Amino acid sequence: MNKQKKPLYWYYFIVLIIMLLLDFVFIPMYTNSRIQSTTYSSFLDKVEEKKVDEVQIEDTDIYYTLKNDEKNKTYQTGLMNDPDLVDRLRDANVEFSQVYTEATNPFLYWLSTFALFAFFIWIGNRLFKKSQKSGGNDSMSFNQGGFGFGNLGKSNAKVYVGEQTGKTFKDVAGQDEAKNSLKEIVDFLNNPKKYQDIGAKMPKGALLVGPPGTGKTLLAKAVAGEAGVPFFSISGSEFVEMFVGRGAAKVRDLFKQAREKAPCIVFIDEIDTIGKKRDGQGFSGNDEREQTLNQLLAEMDGFDGSKGVVLLAATNRPDTLDPALTRPGRFDRRIPVELPDLQGRESILKLHAQNIRCSSQIDFNVIARASAGASGAELANIINESALLAVRDGRKTVVQKDLEEAIEIVIAGEQKKNAVISNHERMIVAYHEIGHALVAAKCKNAAPVHKITIIPRTKGALGYTMQVEEDQHNLISKEEAYQRIMIYTAGRCAEELIFNSITSGASNDIEQATKLARSMVTRLGMSDNFGMIALETVTNTYLGGDTSLACSNDTATKIDEEVIKLIKKAHDEAYQILNENKMKLHELAKYLYEKETITGEEFMYILNKPAEISEQSSRA
Ligand code: ADP
Ligand code: MG
Ligand code: ZN
Repeated sequence: MNKQKKPLYWYYFIVLIIMLLLDFVFIPMYTNSRIQSTTYSSFLDKVEEKKVDEVQIEDTDIYYTLKNDEKNKTYQTGLMNDPDLVDRLRDANVEFSQVYTEATNPFLYWLSTFALFAFFIWIGNRLFKKSQKSGGNDSMSFNQGGFGFGNLGKSNAKVYVGEQTGKTFKDVAGQDEAKNSLKEIVDFLNNPKKYQDIGAKMPKGALLVGPPGTGKTLLAKAVAGEAGVPFFSISGSEFVEMFVGRGAAKVRDLFKQAREKAPCIVFIDEIDTIGKKRDGQGFSGNDEREQTLNQLLAEMDGFDGSKGVVLLAATNRPDTLDPALTRPGRFDRRIPVELPDLQGRESILKLHAQNIRCSSQIDFNVIARASAGASGAELANIINESALLAVRDGRKTVVQKDLEEAIEIVIAGEQKKNAVISNHERMIVAYHEIGHALVAAKCKNAAPVHKITIIPRTKGALGYTMQVEEDQHNLISKEEAYQRIMIYTAGRCAEELIFNSITSGASNDIEQATKLARSMVTRLGMSDNFGMIALETVTNTYLGGDTSLACSNDTATKIDEEVIKLIKKAHDEAYQILNENKMKLHELAKYLYEKETITGEEFMYILNKPAEISEQSSRA
């Protein structure tokens, strides 16, 4: 918008210059070209010769025209104190008159100039506002808020009609349950009669909840594309205003427009901005938010579902929403949009891969298995990173290894090619990683090792061991959880066993192990001493999953003891496994040290080789 401001003032400036030029240069020039001054004596001569046609006497000047003057000019001469002039003109049969010109009032003159100037500013402002509107919106949408001024309480919802968002359900992969719920709403809007005949009422509102990047906004846009009815889209933050009452006015306006356009869909993205619980202990500014929320609640009661206004909203903080907002009759349908499962990930990858040129031999299943826990947005990012890698490599198509590298870039960061790491440190990292991998291989319930690397990454890892589940896992057993803790501690165990010293390289492992052990004790009921007691509650499921303690201080102490005991036990067991397989640990670490990156197959091959060969090579 700033770009447009300057030309606007520039434009005012030009208008001013033009007006000044007109006033002081062009108009005088034009009149001057038609008026020729003469001397008083030549005027008298002309009168005497009866050549004068008409005379006009003004305050200080005499203007006259001549008979048969081919130039058709007006002549001017100064007014002299000449009492005989009237007689002379009478004798010469000239028509004459006196004109009293009022002295131009400079104040009035400037007032009129200003009025003109103000008019231009007004026009300019109108044009500016108009261009701002169309520039600020999506190019495919048009604004309903009216142009120009007095727009303060207007909602600035974007309105899409029919397929204008350019998205349909085909653009959303996975999320089949969410799509089915939404399809019903779309169907209702397209054939309301089918539902009315049987007496069914549509839910007034549906709330899309889920972690960031799972496609909530995308789904809403797809609904707009499918529904073929107007679609009002507004973000919760757009209701937040400096002044009390403004946000509420915007809500009012939004619903007024929606009712006029019914059947239609109203979509409020990030609704938690205005829908937070009213808790009565806020600071200033709370008033405004509460008014906005109250207005929203009132409006939702005010329209009747059969009119065909359906409200959609999205949030990743459903726990903070005011209960009044989620009760039946308001947002009575909750549509979870969860992180995609294995199948979902594969189809999202395939969908986004359609936009890039990739080799036909790519196995998306492998990529999907390796990217457990990734959101749709992250998967889209993986595809894009892989295309960038192919370009960097000077290739025209994306191949499997680009995708595998792209996962690592998204998870662990770019490779730090020229990081300076001493040979001794690389050796430590190699033993550390093989420690993880070896224990993982020896645990029955752990996911197979997919890849081990000691190439450092920009997000801080000096190396890592990648395990990939063979299929979708929805449950985790106590044994699995315990073995995961063993695997986390195994890196440090290898350092202790081989170098008899410990390093800071295990900091992330320690964090993960503690988190898992803690949740085993406090939330999963997997400890012998506490059993099925919830000692912690999760407050923020979709954004990191913060927890808060729900027990006495005494119990908190006991929890800590339990966690310490659990990790100690896992550590000792992992140490034991490594000690029993010390020869293999040496052999594998040496191999990894030389190769920097090894695959799961290479790892398993060396691990399962008969012992004699491995002893020979370790002696060598
Ligand atoms: P949020 O849930 O945070 O609103 P978005 O809808 O904005 O997430 O998703 C961000 C991007 O991630 C989308 O533009 C799309 O490219 C990609 N994406 C997320 N989920 C999916 C999905 N299920 N299918 C295809 N693309 C997806
Ligand atoms: Mg969103
Ligand atoms: Zn580690």
